[in-house]
Amino acid sequence: MGEILIIGAGGVASVAAHKMAQLQVTEDGLFDKISIASRTISKCHAIAESVMERHDVTIDCYQIDADDVAETTKLLNALKPDLLVNLALPYQDLHLMEACLAAGVHYMDTANYEPLDVAKFEYHWQWDYHDRFKDAGLTALLGSGFDPGVTSVFTTYLKKHHFERIDTLDILDCNGGENDEAFATNFNPEINIREVTAVARYWENGDWVETPPMSVKKIFDFEGVGPKNMYLMYHEEIESLKTHIPEISRIRFWMTFGDEYIKHLTVLQNVGMTRIDPVIYEGKEIIPLQFLKSVLPEPASLGNSTKGKTNIGCIATGLGKDGKEKTLYINNICDHEEAYRETGNQAVSYTTGVPAMIGAAMVVSGQWSGDGVFNIEQFDPDPFMDMLNRHGLPWQINELDAPLDF
Ligand code: NDP
Repeated sequence: MGEILIIGAGGVASVAAHKMAQLQVTEDGLFDKISIASRTISKCHAIAESVMERHDVTIDCYQIDADDVAETTKLLNALKPDLLVNLALPYQDLHLMEACLAAGVHYMDTANYEPLDVAKFEYHWQWDYHDRFKDAGLTALLGSGFDPGVTSVFTTYLKKHHFERIDTLDILDCNGGENDEAFATNFNPEINIREVTAVARYWENGDWVETPPMSVKKIFDFEGVGPKNMYLMYHEEIESLKTHIPEISRIRFWMTFGDEYIKHLTVLQNVGMTRIDPVIYEGKEIIPLQFLKSVLPEPASLGNSTKGKTNIGCIATGLGKDGKEKTLYINNICDHEEAYRETGNQAVSYTTGVPAMIGAAMVVSGQWSGDGVFNIEQFDPDPFMDMLNRHGLPWQINELDAPLDF
């Protein structure tokens, strides 16, 4: 059961491929065929070789431009997978959804669509596909990474088992990992920098509240990492969570950054290197941020030098099922070196690739089904939470003495 075509061959795709191969060997019949297609076929071959070495599982490789709908449709028609797992970049989302509709294949991704020329993270472009997927009898599962992804499932799990009503939700994303690089992003640099330099927005009492990028900073003591500066940011799951769990009156997203990262980013911004509008260089149009990406380390290359842990989770305050006001903290702690030993990738790729594998398992096993376009929090969290515990991302819930004081 479950033929998969992964698109993209970066760190996240590598982890997802390794984890799918593990399940092919250990869980009867799940992911019985895995293929991978990306722009640079040598990266597909490198993943396939590592999977063969570690798990003795064959992965077929294909070269593809995922922005070419006709080319992807042709590959889908030839392979006839049950599910396309989009682990390329958010720019490809709509093209890949079109190809899935043309070939009659279910779709899944980990990041919402972004137009190339505006750093805007909004779901409406993908939600607009709902009726077409519904009419075709196909499922599109959006946002099956960690955040979005696990954090949204954490929220629905808390709502299902612990709260009558959630009033406030804070998503805290801490990467306590350190490596030898002066400045490196732990997932695709272009997407990461677009996200970090965007205006910060959170949801409060039915409206968006905006603050300048990286202007609100708090210190939080993360288990397994220690005290870290975290910054208020916009993140796409705020939009889907406030839509699907409208009772939550305030949803905020925080991410930690070290002083060195902020220092480098500030300089890069000040000199115009994070711009996403074209500039003319030696008679040719280039996008400064894309050029910057080409000189920064590839996230997939950081695995063997990254040490430390990630700690990502949600703090929810509201009315408990026992009738009492309470604050619960649900989170996962993941170790960079352990992730590397298991899959050859650091923990940020690991914490995204594992939930991508689990989302794929939910769809191909039929545990999550429906015709149309769905965000991950629209499905039953229990089977997903169970797989997190069994496949490398165990979670814990602790009651805090009081709500956050900021
Ligand atoms: P990488 O940049 O390492 O990998 C992206 C891959 O997509 C590369 O192999 C790239 O090819 C390929 N690709 C890009 N454009 C095309 C195209 N037109 N056709 C075919 N292949 C293409 O990124 P990551 O692995 O770090 O991240 C993958 C995805 O996961 C991103 O969308 C990112 O936003 C998302 N993500 C989600 C998270 C979550 O928690 N929800 C967290 C982290 C990441 P090439 O090698 O030629 O460049």
